[in-house]
Amino acid sequence: MSCCPPRSAEKLEQLSQSKRFANLSSCNQDFIAGLTERFAFSQQDLFQLAELATDFEMWDSGDLQDLWDESDIEHLNSKLRKQEVIRRLKTKWEDFRVSLPNYQNHHPLQKKGKITFSRKDSDDTVLGVCPVYSPKTRCCNLQTLDAVMNCGFECTYCSIQSFYHGEEIVFQGNFKEKLQKIEIDPNRTYHIGTGQASDSLLWGNKENVLSDLFEWAERHPNVILELKTKSANIRHLLDHPVPKNVIATWSLNAPTIAKNEEHRTASTSARISAARRVADKGVIVGFHFHPIVQFNGWDKEYPELISQLTEQFTPEEVALVSLGTLTFIKPVMKQLRDRKQKSKILQMPMEDAAGKFSYPIEQKEKFFKYIYDCFKPWHDKVFFYLCMEDPSLWPAVFGFDYESNDEFENAMKTAYLDKIQNNPKCQ
Ligand code: SF4
Repeated sequence: MSCCPPRSAEKLEQLSQSKRFANLSSCNQDFIAGLTERFAFSQQDLFQLAELATDFEMWDSGDLQDLWDESDIEHLNSKLRKQEVIRRLKTKWEDFRVSLPNYQNHHPLQKKGKITFSRKDSDDTVLGVCPVYSPKTRCCNLQTLDAVMNCGFECTYCSIQSFYHGEEIVFQGNFKEKLQKIEIDPNRTYHIGTGQASDSLLWGNKENVLSDLFEWAERHPNVILELKTKSANIRHLLDHPVPKNVIATWSLNAPTIAKNEEHRTASTSARISAARRVADKGVIVGFHFHPIVQFNGWDKEYPELISQLTEQFTPEEVALVSLGTLTFIKPVMKQLRDRKQKSKILQMPMEDAAGKFSYPIEQKEKFFKYIYDCFKPWHDKVFFYLCMEDPSLWPAVFGFDYESNDEFENAMKTAYLDKIQNNPKCQ
């Protein structure tokens, strides 16, 4: 570290204690240290510089020294000079943020941690509600079954990482007994999903999770059990009878996003082939386009992916297609920045979305419409929905909206049951 005025040295010392600064490249650390010799930055200015540098590093947008501009400021007093150079850097940051991320030459860092397993014996129920449900958005009131806590995949945008930390995967002890304790009203239809607290198929039938679920679903034909996954681990489904009220759904993304932001997951093509093999066996499938990400080439990659689906699957085999996009809560954005991760997922224009952060609603309306239009062959034959979105987007994208989340929920269940009961492979 270069020598600088005593006050600046103190500030620098304080800054160097921060995770943000510590995670920066030595090149950026040295550059910021050097700046304190020429500019009377406040502690807050220094933290801001470290924040901006963190994003530039995550986005592969260049080192601070290449982005820094202190030309033609000699005529300004020291306070104005300081403000001007920070303003210029923020403008560059904003320009990058609203520009479409380009993943060419992007080399994401893969987390190296070793996954460990444990069992948690407790009396907690395993039945819950969708962790990202919000009454402010049009929501399907999904109920969830958490057989496993924490995920072995590492999707940069995923909010699970703000619930669970580290690489410990926790299996529910006495899961079978807990399933039996769930009160199910035989006169009601339920839509219950696994895959919110972990991936539904990644672990196969470890700890008998899948065989316990299938046995339970068999006993409750009025429960639509949705196994949501980014995995291609379908061995158990191929080798064992799957109750017809169990549906398997894949989260799909453009190959560029799957490769660069969905680490350790099965590739997009492996997920599609897994879905195809399971559908061949007579299991109703579905696809979640969530999160749809705006990047350089999105308008080509998503249509290509969608035509693969409409070519390889018939509407009779597919219960649903959901559309959703990036929605962040502050803890996840902080964790992403704290983790020294090469990721462009935060390189996006953001505005408030029901208390979270997402693309501007006008932009969402455009790309949701574009994606939905690509599914034309399946319109009116497959159940489409927007996941966790502002109700005003529904009429803009689908031409209608539901009166309430309950009405949405009932329409979804009716549509899924119709596919299950009329499944040509299960007659
Ligand atoms: S719409 Fe999406 S966020 Fe809302 S309850 Fe359903 S799955 Fe959860």
